[in-house]
Amino acid sequence: MPTLIHECQCETCQQSKGHANWQLHHQMNVFLSRLDEQQRRWYVGLESKKIGRGGDKLLSQITGLDVETIRRGRRELDEDLVTRSSEAVRDAGGGQLPAEKKTRRSRRR
Ligand SMILES: [Zn+2]
Repeated sequence: MPTLIHECQCETCQQSKGHANWQLHHQMNVFLSRLDEQQRRWYVGLESKKIGRGGDKLLSQITGLDVETIRRGRRELDEDLVTRSSEAVRDAGGGQLPAEKKTRRSRRR
C-alpha cells in the first residue's frame, strides 16, 4: 500500500521547489509517513522547539499536522513522556511489537 506523503505548504516551498529547504521539508514528510501517530507528534514537537516562536505554525504548514497536535507533542516532551507509557505505542496502530517480546506458549500434550 503506498503511503501518502504530505506536500509541504510552507511559504518558501510554495514559491519554488528548488531551494534547499524543499528537500529537507520533503524528507521530513517522508520520514513522518513511516512513524506512528504519537511518534509524529513528538518529532514535529521537537522540530518546533528548535525553531521556537512561530515553530508550531510553521511545522504545521510543513507537515500538515494540526497546531494543537504539535503543541501537545511539545507538552508531552516537556513531561519526559511520563504520561505516555511505552506500552501505549502498540495501541497506536500499525506499530511493531518489540523484537524481544516474550511469548509464553502453553504446552499441550
Ligand atoms: Zn517547506
